Amino acid sequence: MSNSRIYNFSAGPSMLPLSVLERAGSEITNFQGSGMSVMEMSHRSKVFLDIFHQTQEKLRQLMGVPQDYRILFLQTGASGQFSAIPLNLISRTGKADYAVTGNFSSLACQEARKYGQISLAADTGDRNHCYIPRQSTLKLDRDASYFYYCANNTIFGTEWDYVPDTGAVPLVCDMSSNILSMPVDVSKFGIIYAGAQKNMAPAGLTVVIIKESLAGDELPYTPLMMNYQTMIDKDSMYNTPPCWCIYMLGLVLDWVEENGGLEGMEQLKWRRANMLYETLDASRLFTCHADKGSRSGMNVTFRTGDEALDARFVQEAAQAGFVNLKGHRKTGGMRASIYNAMPVEGVEKLCEFIQSFDKSN
Ligand SMILES: *Cc1c(COP(=O)(O)O)cnc(C)c1O
Repeated sequence: MSNSRIYNFSAGPSMLPLSVLERAGSEITNFQGSGMSVMEMSHRSKVFLDIFHQTQEKLRQLMGVPQDYRILFLQTGASGQFSAIPLNLISRTGKADYAVTGNFSSLACQEARKYGQISLAADTGDRNHCYIPRQSTLKLDRDASYFYYCANNTIFGTEWDYVPDTGAVPLVCDMSSNILSMPVDVSKFGIIYAGAQKNMAPAGLTVVIIKESLAGDELPYTPLMMNYQTMIDKDSMYNTPPCWCIYMLGLVLDWVEENGGLEGMEQLKWRRANMLYETLDASRLFTCHADKGSRSGMNVTFRTGDEALDARFVQEAAQAGFVNLKGHRKTGGMRASIYNAMPVEGVEKLCEFIQSFDKSN
């Protein structure tokens, strides 16, 4: 069965490591002699609590999460955090700064406007989000309750190559599409969050890493399930957490560890991405959406400039075993999402396909 797998360039949900899927498969009806599937366990049973705490601890070790931060396993989707963040954090000064560098930061910014006074620290919409703003151009308000940005713009294919310096203003970062792809100094952030379905686990889990001292100032009408303090107090178990996804995250974290940890992931990331960018830059037909210096190591966006030719590329690529390469309608063209689980070989073969398409058209 495993040799019939194809190279899946989906932006999310996306590929999981084959060894992780096989291990989950081998344990699916009877987890380590418990006589039941992880899907069937009480979330309060010892056997599941061990999985839960081990997964939290593995993530803490791998990312170097300091002890004054909490790791929450929630179900809101990354999009649920667009609301949870202002609801929990904006009351301190009533103001927040947002860097809008793509679709998801724009949605987060619109949502936050319901709850406070929002300033645009940057907006790259002038050039259809093809670049990352430099530190010197950020308009920072020292009185903001927090500064919000999205580290990797999944749709446009740009990635911040630096962590903004905002002084004492806490940084809040959406890392949905590049978490676990490089080492991160967590102590620079107030909140890091990510929907799991790109680089961590199946869809259904949202990981929130929060400096504990930031919780507890939520607006009075914050929904119970969006209140960080409640989830901290209950260790993400106010209600049933996404048990299966947490177990899968644990397996993915083991796989990351076995493959060189976050340094290893970062090396593989740029090996895959640089190979693809070099092939595209050397081609006659293709141009990349993102400016050099702002390009994402996870989502590579490109086009021919001719919609019919783009469509033919996507179709012929799918026939050759490279699927989900159609770009988002906001950029058009193509997008190759090459998250941690994409084998280097998949990108090598895609590059060969791009070269032969380039020659014959
Ligand atoms: C996919 C994605 C989201 C949306 O995630 P959901 O879990 O579907 O809400 C938000 N931000 C980024 C950067 C993403 O890539």
